[in-house]
Amino acid sequence: MDYYSSQISKLIQELSGLPGIGAKSAQRLAFHILNMPLEQVEELSGAILDARKKVRYCKECFTLTDDELCPICRDAARNHKLIMVVENTRDLAAYEKTGKYEGVYHVLHGAISPMLGIGPGDIKLKELMQRLQQDVDEVIIATNSSLEGETTAMYISKLIKPTGIKVTRIASGVPVGGDLEYIDEVTLLRALEGRTEL
Ligand code: ZN
Repeated sequence: MDYYSSQISKLIQELSGLPGIGAKSAQRLAFHILNMPLEQVEELSGAILDARKKVRYCKECFTLTDDELCPICRDAARNHKLIMVVENTRDLAAYEKTGKYEGVYHVLHGAISPMLGIGPGDIKLKELMQRLQQDVDEVIIATNSSLEGETTAMYISKLIKPTGIKVTRIASGVPVGGDLEYIDEVTLLRALEGRTEL
């Protein structure tokens, strides 16, 4: 990439480090950015910086938020005794988009994967168990239907069973290995409504 100025090369290099951005896309984005009005570039870089600096975990459900508690955990109208366990904030967003779920969430930030060396201690499981010391009616496990998601679901259900709290698993019908965020709302709702006790 010697034919570009070093600044352009650096920009392309940084962009190509983002997920889903190959070398060609990175070049296209870099030249697009260079053609943008300066104020717009400042807006963009400011938004990235602000998000990175201000976003943190909700102290209750561990989703990403810019306050101590996320809007869902702050909402008194939601059922705080119904907790849906998801792998990440994108999955939470997928369920929120349906507008039909009234409970709250718990975001694990990953799934157990012996192959990748990700154990129970690497996800927000301990935090979930701490939450369950409060008054909770049901925990819905909505991890993905991948091997990791199923392993995590089994592990969590074994942990929760002795507490006497009802544990359910969303119905399959969610394509195997499918990320929840790519599944349409109807399928998500069907999976939620068809959940079964573990
Ligand atoms: Zn929260």
